[in-house]
Amino acid sequence: MRVLSVASECAPLVKTGGLADVAGALPAALRAEGIEMRTILPGYPAVMAALEAGAVQVMAEDRLFGGTARLLVGHAAGLELFVIDAPHLYMREGSIYLGADGNDWSDNPQRFAALSLLAARIGTEGVTIDGQGWQPDLLHCHDWQAGFVPDYLAQMGGRCATVLTIHNIAFQGLTGHHMIEQLGLPRSRFHAEGFEYYGQLSALKAGLMRADRLTTVSPTYAAELMRPEFGMGLDGVMRARRRDLSGILNGIDESAWNPATDPNIAEPYRHPSGKTASRDALRAEMGLPQSSGPLCCVVSRLTEQKGLDLLLEALPALLERGGQLALLGSGDRGLEEAFREAAREDGVAVRIGYDEALSHRLIAGADAILVPSRFEPCGLTQLYGLRYGTIPLVALTGGLADTVINASPAALDRGVATGLQFHPVSADPLAVALGRLCDLYAEPDTWARMQANAMSQPVGWASSARAYAALYRDAIAPA
Ligand code: ADP
Repeated sequence: MRVLSVASECAPLVKTGGLADVAGALPAALRAEGIEMRTILPGYPAVMAALEAGAVQVMAEDRLFGGTARLLVGHAAGLELFVIDAPHLYMREGSIYLGADGNDWSDNPQRFAALSLLAARIGTEGVTIDGQGWQPDLLHCHDWQAGFVPDYLAQMGGRCATVLTIHNIAFQGLTGHHMIEQLGLPRSRFHAEGFEYYGQLSALKAGLMRADRLTTVSPTYAAELMRPEFGMGLDGVMRARRRDLSGILNGIDESAWNPATDPNIAEPYRHPSGKTASRDALRAEMGLPQSSGPLCCVVSRLTEQKGLDLLLEALPALLERGGQLALLGSGDRGLEEAFREAAREDGVAVRIGYDEALSHRLIAGADAILVPSRFEPCGLTQLYGLRYGTIPLVALTGGLADTVINASPAALDRGVATGLQFHPVSADPLAVALGRLCDLYAEPDTWARMQANAMSQPVGWASSARAYAALYRDAIAPA
């Protein structure tokens, strides 16, 4: 089976969040299932620079939203790629989504409509690669940036199946309805059963209404999306499509995230007892003294979603027990400032920025990783924590609920706990959970058992790749 993955970002080439990790990992994971996946990406500077010599043009568009575009086929970072070389849309410095003023690029609707349009063309017409025809059986669309794929496909008369994965329903690709004609979409679909959303045009809703199958990145988030508190205005759509919706957990890239082989950390380890060198090195790097309590880390975007304002409120519960916090993150200016302020306290160290290598050192060196998200479609850092014997303390929501076994009395009795969960997601329950974390840390046998359990959890892609393969097969099967 041939699948075209339609993604606006893809690790390790270009990444702002978990979507990139998934798009980057799926092709290799699916190979084991007999699925040939290629990925179509915008030709951002980093993608064009990484494209290996020998890329060839397989399609051209003279007028693609104000300029010419070439579709290249080639390789980069072990990925089989289609890259859209359209400098007027993608060749710009800075964030892939935001201009220097911190606002979305004003032509984002066109930039990602172009991605969707060319993906639909490949799906409809196929391309010739090395003298052989290549046409996907299925288009796997990621988030709103690929939301118009099924509409374009229908317009072109394409027949391949479509799956849309929601990585985060907070991002919906909304724009004014005056864009409908500019994007080459049919105004006849501008209604409640199409891509209209409260008077605007929604790329995500377009895909949700029309893709053959919908997935999201955890079973709990799939259930949450049908509720008004989590559906961000699309819970009705999700309820209407519940039969086509499933939750498949993300895995982690086990070649990059493996404490036994990680080149970023002080000393590789296979057992939790091997964390000592990393912990000492981390304290030295972050300027934290030795302490009797757990060293906790956070690696996160600093946004409302991640609940880190709650952590600021609950922090005394950790510090008064001798616990420490080392945080790496960037995002919301107010949160950045608040954490810089918190770092004046003993036992708190903060690095504002994005730093892949430091994220490995934090996760290897810390005793625990904190993820107090208000909502979390899947979450990856708690999975890294499990893999590194770094106990996750997480909010009971989304993928955090599905991947961590809470240290309840029953789970501790049976010796199966891997972390801690708290609910509801507010500062007081988080403070209580931080206290429990300190209690458990003070019981070395219990803690060591939890670490061993954590490290033995399957957090790779194997079972999720099987689930995607089964879903694809089902989606392309004749009705
Ligand atoms: P989201 O996609 O909502 O940001 P995830 O937990 O799914 O959350 O994925 C976040 C990814 O980005 C993880 O791989 C995490 O390690 C990484 N990450 C987030 N912030 C930083 C940072 N400041 N420095 C390095 N890596 C980061």
